[in-house]
Amino acid sequence: MLEQHRTSEIDGETKQQLIRKLETVIAKNKQQQKEIKKRHVQTIQTNRKQEDRYIQQNRCPKCGSALVIKNGKYGKFKCCSTYPKCRFTQKIR
Ligand SMILES: [Zn+2]
Repeated sequence: MLEQHRTSEIDGETKQQLIRKLETVIAKNKQQQKEIKKRHVQTIQTNRKQEDRYIQQNRCPKCGSALVIKNGKYGKFKCCSTYPKCRFTQKIR
């Protein structure tokens, strides 16, 4: 009877420890996921900025070739000079 009582006590403690461990792992995972998401957004923003800089210098952000201005149906747009090899286009605002 006494043995049984002791066993269940230990079990309860272990369970608590396990739960605490699990909670820590879950919390860590959540934080990591948040950080991965944040980093992903930052990468996209950096890429966009870099693309804008390239376009401002009349360079294709995809292949580094010169951009040419063309007149399209819906107005002027910049397009890669190596078209159709590279199909980068950017509307001029
Ligand atoms: Zn290009």
